[in-house]
Amino acid sequence: MPNRTQKDKPGAMTRDVMDGGIRKRAKEAPSLGQNIIGVLVGENEQKFFVHEALLKKSSVYLRNALKECWKLASGFDTDVIWIRTVEPRTFEIYIKWLYFGKIFSIEDDDAEDHGGGTHGIHEFPRLCDLYIFGDYIQDVSLKNAAIDALIAATVERNRYPTALAARTCCNTPPTSKLYQLLVDFYAWTTTPGWIDEKNAEEDPSCDVADAPPKFWRDVLRATWKAGGAVFKDNKTYPWAKDKCKYHEHSDAEGKCV
Ligand SMILES: [Zn+2]
Repeated sequence: MPNRTQKDKPGAMTRDVMDGGIRKRAKEAPSLGQNIIGVLVGENEQKFFVHEALLKKSSVYLRNALKECWKLASGFDTDVIWIRTVEPRTFEIYIKWLYFGKIFSIEDDDAEDHGGGTHGIHEFPRLCDLYIFGDYIQDVSLKNAAIDALIAATVERNRYPTALAARTCCNTPPTSKLYQLLVDFYAWTTTPGWIDEKNAEEDPSCDVADAPPKFWRDVLRATWKAGGAVFKDNKTYPWAKDKCKYHEHSDAEGKCV
């Protein structure tokens, strides 16, 4: 008769419950490898040092960038690549997410309101930029994490971004999940003040005049599709019902649990 382990016993606690998830199997740990890569970020070439194995696992784009022919000759002790199109603050959030699995996006000066409406919530554009970077380097997990963080930031504050439409439309296609989430934010939470025809130069909290007409047509389409539900007091937002709608999943992976 096979030995029965503690875990097999009916009602036995799983290890995660017993120890709060602090212990894991060694083989579950991400492999860090031996190589460190220097990454120059942005026009000013701010330097970061990251394990090569983490970058390669994260992104198809970076796997290609780390091929020998893309590496820069330099005076560093490590191989070096240059990612010009991202801001250092976004890249820093990205590498902390690679190492620690969390999005460190909240800053001390992210007060509820700096007098600039939702523009005052600086975390929104920070997370938007993180998604755009995830799209650029083709890291689906990063994009999904940025979406989750953006939804969580809006839920926590009960405020929604009103100046990200142009930024999103310029940097991701209409098929992107960020674009679709933003369309739904507008369709479900818009108040008349949001749709004054202003651009960000006149009012940093509003970029209605900067976003392309197609975006507003999509907002109108989403509003009509939802019927009267968007005007009800006790509505349940689509991102609260199913945030997987704004994720990308492979067929093999399925939806998030
Ligand atoms: Zn999901």
